[in-house]
Amino acid sequence: MQNSKRMMVAGNWKMNGNLEMLSHFKSSLPVFENIDVVLCVPSVYIKEAVGANFSVGAQDCSEHESGAYTGDISLSMLAELGAEHVIIGHSERRQAYSETNERVAIKAEKALENGFVPIVCVGEPLEVRESGNVFEFVGEQLAAILNRCKQQLDKLVIAYEPIWAIGTGKTASPEQAQEVHAFIRSELKKSSELYSQISILYGGSVTDVNAAELFAQHDIDGALVGGASLKVDSFKIICEHA
Ligand code: PGA
Repeated sequence: MQNSKRMMVAGNWKMNGNLEMLSHFKSSLPVFENIDVVLCVPSVYIKEAVGANFSVGAQDCSEHESGAYTGDISLSMLAELGAEHVIIGHSERRQAYSETNERVAIKAEKALENGFVPIVCVGEPLEVRESGNVFEFVGEQLAAILNRCKQQLDKLVIAYEPIWAIGTGKTASPEQAQEVHAFIRSELKKSSELYSQISILYGGSVTDVNAAELFAQHDIDGALVGGASLKVDSFKIICEHA
């Protein structure tokens, strides 16, 4: 680890897992003193997940406080269950539920207002990378977030997740990831003096094998881990590398 700031490893179980698996994680994951370990489980498991050696997060939230939004879950409900973090704007939600940059930014703003640590995802699809417009694309996603979250930027966590690397086994090389992380850091610098304290996680096929070299990059402050967060041994090794 080359950074002086605190590292974070956040697991994103997506729509996986069950109570038995959760109980195994609760009894197997040790305390990690120097990093923040967060497990973002399906919302129905949040209450059960609280109380172990990791913080608990949700994978999405509603931007509304209450009302006729069938199937949605509000931030105050998530807080009641014990969640402290919430993933916002994951590419799977941006794609499958048409979440726009603006809606993602509103959710991040509401999460901050409700005392959550939002883990806000940005990242480009393959065609954008191939056409050489990564900074433009990620810059636009980021601008919407910064516009709404300026006041509490130090509480925000950004996750750079190139879509072509998610669940594909095709991790961005440490250099590719570092290049975008450095760009994100330079954009944050324009909005906040606390830019150097904002954690920027990398996500996309992070494993116990490639985590160390990703974490060695100057602007990579941890990881958002999907598939490898479903196996306690792999997840533990990733945390040990942070
Ligand atoms: P992956 O998923 O680690 O399985 O690529 C990461 C994510 O979607 O957050």
